[in-house]
Amino acid sequence: MFDLNKITRKNIINLEPYSSARDEFEGQSSIWLDANENPFNTDFNRYPDPHQIQLKNKIAEVKNVNINEIIVGNGSDELIDLLFKAFCEPEIDAAYLFPPTYGMYEVSAKINNVKIVKIPLTKNFDLPSLETIFKKVNSNGILFICSPNNPTGNTFNIKKIQEIAQSFGGIVVVDEAYIDFSEMPSALQLINSTPNLVVLQTFSKALGLAGLRLGLGFANKKIISVLNKIKPPYNVNTFTQQMGLKVLKNNAKIKSQIKIITNERAKLIEKLNQLSIVKKSYPTQANFVLVIFDDANRVYQFLIENGIVIRNRSSQVKQALRITIGTPEENDRLITTLKKL
Ligand SMILES: *Cc1c(COP(=O)(O)O)cnc(C)c1O
Repeated sequence: MFDLNKITRKNIINLEPYSSARDEFEGQSSIWLDANENPFNTDFNRYPDPHQIQLKNKIAEVKNVNINEIIVGNGSDELIDLLFKAFCEPEIDAAYLFPPTYGMYEVSAKINNVKIVKIPLTKNFDLPSLETIFKKVNSNGILFICSPNNPTGNTFNIKKIQEIAQSFGGIVVVDEAYIDFSEMPSALQLINSTPNLVVLQTFSKALGLAGLRLGLGFANKKIISVLNKIKPPYNVNTFTQQMGLKVLKNNAKIKSQIKIITNERAKLIEKLNQLSIVKKSYPTQANFVLVIFDDANRVYQFLIENGIVIRNRSSQVKQALRITIGTPEENDRLITTLKKL
C-alpha cells in the first residue's frame, strides 16, 4: 500500500542538496580555513555540526533506535513543516486532522498550500472508527495523531494507530510532545514495522528547553534521509545541541521534576473538581488539564486580572480552558484565586 517513492514530491527526489563546507572534507584537521568564519575563539565562532552527530548518538542510545532513524529540528514545528515540503503536493495531497487538536498542523498545512480534511474526535475525544476515518480519506498526504492529545490530554490506542497507518497510503505522524508525562507506551516501537510512521518528540515540554528549540523526529531510515536532504543545513545551533546533550546525559533532575508535576496534576484535578464553578475535567496524561467551566470566558478574564494566564480553548471545546500544571506554589495560587470567584 505504502510506497515512499510515490509519495515523495518529484522536486525533492530530484534535489541535489546543499553541501556545506565540512561535508566536503573527511579526516582530522586543526586548521579550518574553509567556511569564512572568524578564526578567534568565542565558543561559537564555528558553524554548528549540520548532522548533530554527538547529540544523535546520545538520542539513539536513550531511545534505543539507530542514528539513521533520527532527525533533529529547530523545534518539532520545523519537522512538521519539512514533512509537508517532502510529502505533500500542494492542492493535491491533504493534511488529515482530528480536532480538537494542536493548531500548528493546520497552520503549517496552509503555509504549504496543502488541503485540510478534518475528522472530529468522538464525544469522549477518542479516535473515530477506521470506517469513519477512511470514508474521508481520498488522497495521500499526512495524517496527524497527537497522543497525548493537545488540548484534551488523552492518549490513543497504539494498536489502532498502527491499523490506521497500515491502511493509509501517505505518512502518519504520531506527535508525542507530552509522552514523558504519560504511562502509555510510545509509538517509537512501531517505526521498524510501520514504514510510513513518523514519531515526533520535543525538548520543549518535560525536558525543559522550550526556549532553545529542539525537536526530534523518528522514522525508518528512508523517510529520515529524505527529510535530512531538505532540512536547512545549520537548523540546530551549537548551544542547543550542547544543552540537549547535557539534559540527556544528566536526566535525574528532569525525572524528579516530572514526578512532581504528575503528582501535582492529580492534586490539582481533585481540587478543581471540588469547585462549584467547574463542571468537569477530562482525564489527562499530559502536563495540562482541560476543564469545563460554567462560564469559561469569565473565569479566563478573572484569572488574567489576578495575574494568572491559562489557555482559553472555548473556541475548540465549549466552555473549556486548558490549564498547565505549574509548581506546587503556582497551583495553590490558582486554586485560591478560583475560590474567590
Ligand atoms: C508544544 C507542542 C509541540 C512542541 O513544539 P516545539 O516546536 O518542539 O516546541 C509539538 N506538538 C504539540 C502537540 C505540542 O503541544
